Amino acid sequence: MDNIITKQFYVLGTIIRLTVYGDNAQNAIDLAVSRLYEIDDRMSVFKADSEISNININAGKSPIKVNDDTFFVIKQGLYYSNLTSGAFNLCISPLVNLWGIGTSHARIPNEHEVEKALKISDYKSIVLNDKDYTVSLCHPGQAIDLGSIAKGYAADEIKSIFTKNNIKHAIIDLGGNVYAFGTKPDLSHWNIGIQDPFGDQQQYIGTLKVSNKSIVTSGGYERYFEIDGQRFQHIIDPKTGYPCKNDISSVTIISDNSIDGDALSTCCYTMGLEKGLNLIESINGVDGIFITNNKEVYMTSEITQNFKLI
Ligand code: AMP
Ligand code: MG
Repeated sequence: MDNIITKQFYVLGTIIRLTVYGDNAQNAIDLAVSRLYEIDDRMSVFKADSEISNININAGKSPIKVNDDTFFVIKQGLYYSNLTSGAFNLCISPLVNLWGIGTSHARIPNEHEVEKALKISDYKSIVLNDKDYTVSLCHPGQAIDLGSIAKGYAADEIKSIFTKNNIKHAIIDLGGNVYAFGTKPDLSHWNIGIQDPFGDQQQYIGTLKVSNKSIVTSGGYERYFEIDGQRFQHIIDPKTGYPCKNDISSVTIISDNSIDGDALSTCCYTMGLEKGLNLIESINGVDGIFITNNKEVYMTSEITQNFKLI
């Protein structure tokens, strides 16, 4: 295979790295880049004029019409919120903002503030209208956050752009959310490294042999702040309103669609080892690798033959 192009850039709040093989690689990358900017423009909570910001600003006021892609991602977020009885919470935004983890204003809020933000972090009262693609949030202050699912959707979109453009071999890496597209140029499986949650970046605990699979990891090591020797990481337990503290350090989900993997990795991180493993075992075609705080590795039965511990 002659032509290989790698492009690295920043969008969706993360570093994107696309590695694409074949004669049409440049064209496919250009299309993927503009699609990623379009998704960011519509779904980012950090952009004041995004569709998500528009929905959030109008919480408690009026329904907002959005594009079909934004509507689809919100719908999937709501599906996983319902599936996990809120362990995954599409409306976690007030709590995420309150803690500010990963931003320059990260702090420990007081109990009263947490209580107040918890009350409006209510995914059950969202109203979605399938006919005209409108989204309504009922309570003032209520807000949607697609931070745990939009990158997965974006990976799926790049996947379909590459398919349409006759790409056969590519690695789509959205800040550690990886999609192993097709095969390696020699037609063997890709080897995807699974980050060691206790090591430095790019230090792997093992590798996965896969083709045409999404590999998404959620971990406390990704974003956190430390104060008085205590670490607060960025995934919030919607039951308590505090950053999750449980028995796992990271969870990796292997699936066909990255939107599912992205949602499920966040779900499992909040649910912990036992409930998370049970959930993944119950879903056909989805696998998981859980690394505990004691550095033990648990995985679903199907994936064991493809995973090699380093
Ligand atoms: P991920 O890295 O995909 O697990 O997503 C983590 C991001 O999702 C956080 O930075 C928040 O923006 C958001 N988030 C935090 N807690 C939750 C939760 N319980 N449910 C849904 N999204 C969350
Ligand atoms: Mg996620």
